[in-house]
Amino acid sequence: MSVIDRLLQDGDPAPFGTENGDGRFPILFASDHAGRAIPKALGRLGLDEVALARHVAYDIGIYGVTTRLAKTLDATYVFQPYSRLVIDCNRRPGNAQSVLAVSDGTTVPGNEGIEPAAVEARRREILEPYHREIERVLADRQARAQPTALFAMHSCTPLFGGETGPRPWHIGVLANRDWRIGDALIEILTKETDLCVGRNQPYSVDEESDYTIPLHAEANGLPYVEIEIRQDLIGDEAGQREWAELCASVFPRALERSGVVAA
Ligand SMILES: [Zn+2]
Repeated sequence: MSVIDRLLQDGDPAPFGTENGDGRFPILFASDHAGRAIPKALGRLGLDEVALARHVAYDIGIYGVTTRLAKTLDATYVFQPYSRLVIDCNRRPGNAQSVLAVSDGTTVPGNEGIEPAAVEARRREILEPYHREIERVLADRQARAQPTALFAMHSCTPLFGGETGPRPWHIGVLANRDWRIGDALIEILTKETDLCVGRNQPYSVDEESDYTIPLHAEANGLPYVEIEIRQDLIGDEAGQREWAELCASVFPRALERSGVVAA
């Protein structure tokens, strides 16, 4: 392949980040929307700083929460540094929401009328290496006989265009077929905190609206849960620290209660 055909160039971030690669805790954390990098060759997709700082570009605050959490628990964390506007790593390639020309009312000029070859380059150089890395970590853990539950970490906007009002849920606990960890977590959060906890709110998990959980967890019978923390709660460092502490306290107990892996 010639240099001309390549999307990522010198100075662009790698298409995934892995922290604490030898983590001993039986959770693999993954964030599909952790970052808002855009390959230099795409010239910011025609967006200004204001648009790139909004939820349309990435999951605000979730990296700050999860990097602390993974460190505290000694768990491995794989995250995507590129903006979901380049390619959404939580959508099956080819899905209508994979590369959006309009996201929550914001037009993305660099995605309007995009050529299939350009989509293919984003898939090949960003989405696929990220998912291969998750696969690699899971395979390594399996080879070492380390049990693993996949925790897909996201954050969501408190106000989404088209909805009737602000979202009341501080945290959403999402799953599709396997609710073992999700229900244990909801029980603990409901009993022990004053948080408004959503069960499959504000989103649910399925093959259309998700890729990471169906691909890596459900297809392999791996226990999992998907988490959505409201972005106004984790927009600054204090909030991120507070939520990392809360999660570090309740996640291991949810694992234990669910009985899926020994925490
Ligand atoms: Zn997300």
